Amino acid sequence: MYQLPSAFEFQTSIETLRAHHWRSYTDAYKGCEFECQYCLYKGPGEYGLHVQPVKLSVPARADMGIVDIGTTTDPYQPMEADQKITRGILQTAIELKIPLFVLTRGDLVLRDVDLLRELAQEGLVEVCLSVITLNDNITRRIEPNAPAPVERLRVAEQLANQDIPVAFHVAPLIPGLDTPDDLHTFGKRLAEACGSHVFSAMLGARKPYWKPFYEGMDAVADHCGSFETFERAYPRDFDFSRDAAGTCGIEDALPALTPLREGVTDGGAIYVSENYPYLTTGELTGGIYRWKLPTVYDMATWIQAQDGTVEWPDFLQWYRDFRPSEALVELVNGLWTSGELFLGTYLAQQGEGYGATDELLMPAHHTLVAKRLPVGR
Ligand code: SF4
Repeated sequence: MYQLPSAFEFQTSIETLRAHHWRSYTDAYKGCEFECQYCLYKGPGEYGLHVQPVKLSVPARADMGIVDIGTTTDPYQPMEADQKITRGILQTAIELKIPLFVLTRGDLVLRDVDLLRELAQEGLVEVCLSVITLNDNITRRIEPNAPAPVERLRVAEQLANQDIPVAFHVAPLIPGLDTPDDLHTFGKRLAEACGSHVFSAMLGARKPYWKPFYEGMDAVADHCGSFETFERAYPRDFDFSRDAAGTCGIEDALPALTPLREGVTDGGAIYVSENYPYLTTGELTGGIYRWKLPTVYDMATWIQAQDGTVEWPDFLQWYRDFRPSEALVELVNGLWTSGELFLGTYLAQQGEGYGATDELLMPAHHTLVAKRLPVGR
């Protein structure tokens, strides 16, 4: 029986449900040597000092849907050169035809071009390079052990040249890190390097690392486009009383999102917004995405294509055709009932169901919390 290391069913808050596509994810390592100071999965204290490979523990199944590699730890951190756990996952995916979404900052991914090409020939893989800015003066301090941003662009170009589907994650997008002009150039360069899509998610502030992260930002303040913009969007004394994690408001997010979005569009790629799905500029179809779960964007698109209001039983029938797990159905049902599901889209509650509206609803507050559930639940 093939095994995967600690695979978990993807189960999230509304924010991740909005823009992600996979059902399962798996971490090859515990901890991450890259030590990004904004890492959502950083524990207090010794993050990065005790990185370990994790044991193989979950039977791999062909019907897992997209398996995401790289959600909470980088699959191509330096230890992978010896351990080859990620390479083993790729080999398993080839055997069982499991679709993979690989998210990394690591240039070691180029070692596995042979396997990635095999997967790509069957439409079973997309590699996503994560870059938050092209400004190396900043990344050297807040992503101390990760390859330089231009290096990651080079990796993406090399993968694309091998016909391996590549995209970019700008996550976290940090307001004030770059000027609007820089963001436009950044988006355009990413789009030109990958030719497919660029995804962005606003910085998720979390209490355990907020103080050391802010110290890191203080240290690069002179290199930021506008440190004042960052301080206004994410106050030093960020209010964590409502949620364990939070993002800035729309008024601070839009000045960063808009130039990035325009740069990506000018560069010829699709822009995908996690936090504000209505900013997304096109659908993700074909390739790896034929295996996907419906995002809020897909749900909204489908509902808008129906006549009038859509009620839960009809919506559920459509949603089940995507074969989500019962846990996800339960989550979506709860968000439908509470009215949260389509906040930030052009849909609003009307009677028992949802229908298109002229009124643009904005989420009052955001959370970004991943909950782990065992596969098969
Ligand atoms: S590469 Fe990803 S998992 Fe690793 S420290 Fe950075 S943000 Fe965290």
